[in-house]
Amino acid sequence: TSVIRLDEVWKTYRVGSEDVHALAGVSIDFLRGSFWAIMGPSGSGKSTLLNLLGCLDRPTQGACYIQEQQTAGVDDDALSEIRLRHLGFIFQSFNLIAQLSVRENIELPLFYLGWEAERSRRRAEELAALVGLEERLEHRPNELSGGQQQRVAIARALANDPQIILADEPTGNLDTATGTQIMEMLKTLNHQGKTVIMVTHEPEIAAYADHRLHIRDGLIDRIESADN
Ligand code: ADP
Ligand code: ADP
Repeated sequence: TSVIRLDEVWKTYRVGSEDVHALAGVSIDFLRGSFWAIMGPSGSGKSTLLNLLGCLDRPTQGACYIQEQQTAGVDDDALSEIRLRHLGFIFQSFNLIAQLSVRENIELPLFYLGWEAERSRRRAEELAALVGLEERLEHRPNELSGGQQQRVAIARALANDPQIILADEPTGNLDTATGTQIMEMLKTLNHQGKTVIMVTHEPEIAAYADHRLHIRDGLIDRIESADN
């Protein structure tokens, strides 16, 4: 079954007196439990695509379905709701909140979902243990290494047990060995059933995915799938 589906999606920006088609009629089906790398030159539309998949934006034309729910035409609150329920995000620069502890960062999505404090607390502890940071719950992000910060971000992305993990250059700020650890973690999550969709420039990182989606000038150039 499909967890995200794009049907003839266009995203057009007005720049001065010209229309720029960041996406020019993209149709694709992301199946449950698949692992994707989105690749392509700078300006090809990768960020635009990830923003649509992540419900951070809506298509100009065409339809985007996240777990069967259409995102076109829904209001911002409904879009946030879809994000909180179905999606976890991991970013190149970790995007943790510096003033909050590891525990509080992990609990953040649960706070927005209205979870009761004690339940959030237990969930944060469980997730910190999962990523090997149970000893760091009361630390601030700047007291941690880059790899540890990304593990906190993974724990936060998993807080509400979303089906889909979206990652924007998840190893872009990490050394090779640490990047490998993070990718192994994403691979394990994928094997446990999560759908993982990441943007990356790096072929060694893209090699973790089962499907490599190459985009160029707002269109799907080709899809390479591992035959396993
Ligand atoms: P985003 O839109 O997600 O910020 P971009 O693809 O626009 O990412 O990257 C911003 C700039 O950084 C571009 O000029 C891009 O070519 C360059 N860049 C980012 N990561 C890499 C990388 N791993 N290798 C080469 N260039 C990169
Ligand atoms: P990538 O992530 O592959 O570098 P983007 O999705 O960021 O590509 O950009 C695709 C195209 O859309 C580029 O031509 C870019 O300049 C344009 N674009 C992206 N965002 C905007 C925006 N907010 N306003 C105008 N043009 C944009």
